[in-house]
Amino acid sequence: MFYSTRPGGAMIVGKLFLTAEQIQTRIGELGAKISEDYEGKDILLIGILKGAFMFFSDIVKLIQVPMDIDFLIASSYVRTQSTGEVKIHADLREDIKDRHVLLIEDIVDTGLTLNSIREMLLSRKPASLKICSFLDKKPRRKVDIDIDYVGFEIPDKFFVGYGLDYENKFRNLPYISIFKESTYAD
Ligand code: 5GP
Repeated sequence: MFYSTRPGGAMIVGKLFLTAEQIQTRIGELGAKISEDYEGKDILLIGILKGAFMFFSDIVKLIQVPMDIDFLIASSYVRTQSTGEVKIHADLREDIKDRHVLLIEDIVDTGLTLNSIREMLLSRKPASLKICSFLDKKPRRKVDIDIDYVGFEIPDKFFVGYGLDYENKFRNLPYISIFKESTYAD
């Protein structure tokens, strides 16, 4: 792990992968597409915490349809490894039955976390359930899962920033960095 400083003084953790500007441009495109697809509908946006908090707060501002919001707190990672076992630390407050639900996730890696959250939510009978993930680490997928809206496809490396942590640190960085060259390396 390494730190560097950019001209102007901003601290860069690890190796810069997506700048704040690139992120905002892509979120603008995603927000426009989601607004178009859900035109005339009222939606329930569910953020999966903690990782998705920053993406969630940026994308809600760019979705132009009536919405409610809610959050789930879930975890499956210990240090840099997915345990494959999903813990729900805090459940939704909203009833999702017959509602158009859009799940907002930070990153899909093996897909195990999202798959079990998806199954849990489908059992509550929403009118529809779609998924929007900021990052998609496709090379690591273990379960087949359809992601309706993807911010960026990324390689098999370990990323931090823009909501993503390493041991609860670095979530506040406004950019995405490569923290470790391999998801498996410690
Ligand atoms: P999955 O169950 O798809 O393997 O893992 C999804 C969860 O693992 C994400 O919600 C995120 O918390 C964590 N995760 C997966 N890859 C990364 C990564 O590159 N960086 C960070 N910080 N977390 C990751």
